[in-house]
Amino acid sequence: MTNLEMLKNAIDKATKEKDEFEVLEGVKMDKTCSILIHKGNAYRIDIKEDVIVSCSCPHHTYRHGVCKHMIYMSEKYNFNIHALG
Ligand SMILES: [Zn+2]
Repeated sequence: MTNLEMLKNAIDKATKEKDEFEVLEGVKMDKTCSILIHKGNAYRIDIKEDVIVSCSCPHHTYRHGVCKHMIYMSEKYNFNIHALG
């Protein structure tokens, strides 16, 4: 699968599953880190100066791909995503 296909997949999933995500109250306005809950799992999203730099999920940690969590947060809060692809 190419980077572009993975990115399209992540965007599709972020869109289809958007009602399943929950941003933990209390940290979402902290512009350095947010915790995103999806299906009972917690993911740490690191943000620097309104740019999403990483997510703690396996897709980003091991494959360095842009994941559906980063895309969800980008759409919800108008953050950019570092190093798309
Ligand atoms: Zn992720």
